[in-house]
Amino acid sequence: ATPTSIMVGTGRAAELGVLFRQGDALQSLKEVGVVALDKTGTLTKGRPDLTDFVTAPGFAEDDILRLVASVEGNSEHPIAQAIVEGAKRRGLSLARPEGFEALPGFGVSAMIDGRKVDVGADRFMTQLGHAVTEFADTANRLGSEGKSPLYAAVDGRLAAIIAVADPIKPSTPEAIAALHALGLRVAMITGDNRRTAMAIARQIDIDEVEAEILPDGKVDAVKRLRQGGGKVAFVGDGINDAPALAEADIGIAIGTGTDIAIESADMVLMSGDVRGVVNAIALSKATIRNIR
Ligand code: ADP
Ligand code: MG
Repeated sequence: ATPTSIMVGTGRAAELGVLFRQGDALQSLKEVGVVALDKTGTLTKGRPDLTDFVTAPGFAEDDILRLVASVEGNSEHPIAQAIVEGAKRRGLSLARPEGFEALPGFGVSAMIDGRKVDVGADRFMTQLGHAVTEFADTANRLGSEGKSPLYAAVDGRLAAIIAVADPIKPSTPEAIAALHALGLRVAMITGDNRRTAMAIARQIDIDEVEAEILPDGKVDAVKRLRQGGGKVAFVGDGINDAPALAEADIGIAIGTGTDIAIESADMVLMSGDVRGVVNAIALSKATIRNIR
């Protein structure tokens, strides 16, 4: 493309709320075969709600929820916010955690009132040696409802299963339908539970799912998707997404996301609306056509 057509193209894109940080991106976009999207904060609002809280026999709900929320009070994860708000809604007042630790992609731990509290994914519990099998049926049910199951252990004993649900952005289904109309494959990459990811993928018609991906694994997921043919565009918002945004042929950050994601990306969607990707690809094709 000529410099002029690219300038016109990027100017038009800016009007559509798409910012190019890398001039080549507009040209590469027309070669995209698959658009991969991070789930939390990209396809979903990134503002989950606490929906379920079930304790194991011998544990009192309010006691355990207070302990769990007290640990999460120190975490920046959207899941943490959901749990803290859920506890406050029930009128629980939180304690100050001691020795707080966060393990990205796994969960969080701290001491609350002298009790050791661990909260996180099933793989976190397994790693700590707490079997989650007694909650298997509940976890399966929650997952198939598109909710994300988490677990809490207190003093080394599994105490509760917790679910949070993150609403899908209203613009997401339309964006995916439009990507399909352009003949593209649509993939989702997430650290979340496989069953949950599959339930959400079914709701919004995602073609390929990379679930239970640890923060370090998103780069490999992008490489795997590239084997399906065409260039890979990856859309993400989090600190976790930065390496995958850099690895993708076209990294697209959500403008409302973290600075590090934006700095690693070739393009930025100002409003956080994934339909911006569709507009940009359509524009890319039109810009290239103009100069032929
Ligand atoms: P995603 O890629 O979907 O944004 P993350 O990699 O941030 O997810 O986290 C993956 C999983 O690790 C979460 O789904 C959750 O099970 C667990 N996890 C991470 N941080 C926390 C936390 N603060 N509290 C509870 N669980 C957590
Ligand atoms: Mg995210």
